[in-house]
Amino acid sequence: MNHMHDDSRIHFPDYIWPEGKRCAVTFSMDLDAESPYLWIHRGQQMRSLGEIEQRRYGPRQGVKRVVELLAEYGISGSFFVPGVVASTYPGLLPYLVENGHEIAYHGYYHERIDAIGSDLARDYTEKVIEVFRQQTGQTGLGYRAPSWEMTIELLTLFKELGISYDSSLMGFDHPYDVNGLVEIPTQWMTDDALYFRYTNSARDKTHPANPVAVLESWIEEFEGARKYGGLCMLTIHDWISGRPQRLLMLEKFIRHIRQYNDVWIARADELARWHQASANHNRFTTAGQHIQTQFPFSEVNP
Ligand SMILES: [Zn+2]
Repeated sequence: MNHMHDDSRIHFPDYIWPEGKRCAVTFSMDLDAESPYLWIHRGQQMRSLGEIEQRRYGPRQGVKRVVELLAEYGISGSFFVPGVVASTYPGLLPYLVENGHEIAYHGYYHERIDAIGSDLARDYTEKVIEVFRQQTGQTGLGYRAPSWEMTIELLTLFKELGISYDSSLMGFDHPYDVNGLVEIPTQWMTDDALYFRYTNSARDKTHPANPVAVLESWIEEFEGARKYGGLCMLTIHDWISGRPQRLLMLEKFIRHIRQYNDVWIARADELARWHQASANHNRFTTAGQHIQTQFPFSEVNP
């Protein structure tokens, strides 16, 4: 089976972290507020206030509480903000920047970017870049796709528009390269929406999860990242984790991580810069041909 060892698609070295660190943790927030709800119901007359008010809790109270909690522990986070949220709440982006956090793109209307066609995808992406530029003077930021869906064409478009990295995919558990762009991977298991999203709509099939069990699971996700030398990417939402009980839970999670001094707490843009400047760059690469390779069904079918 010697030929197996030559297959670059299944053999990769360990990821190299900065001196003395064995893994990384990123505190990220997808600051959706009411944008996904408005996108899904676009063009409709809406009379119900239930979900929209629940979501507006995020910018009204949730964001500030998370920012203050992170400040208490000296943590700088990564905030992915849809353009329409920045336009609706023009104080948000400057507030995040003033508090030392990274701001990054998260679509314009929180559109499913893989489902709208490339012309609209370009329009919306250019639009969100312009809102960020007007409000903060910053450009060339990172991008996280709403719902974490992505296409090769979009990655090519992002490179063209000067986007510095993507954070939507899960092909490795540490930074890698996809179609020439740095990828800072996400993880469903450490996304608060999976456990706590509840709006009493048809989409919610169960009640929210037991927070004690979720905390234990997130601590184990972190311990696993530390053992195997990966990235623990925490993704929370303004309107979900900005609630008091989840803030207490988040604080317990932070305290657990803070016991170790060999953990790099880094923003997504810091990870992207590290990746590009280190020997890791182009070592974990899924070039276009690898992505597009079709599984050879003709060879496995009888
Ligand atoms: Zn989102």
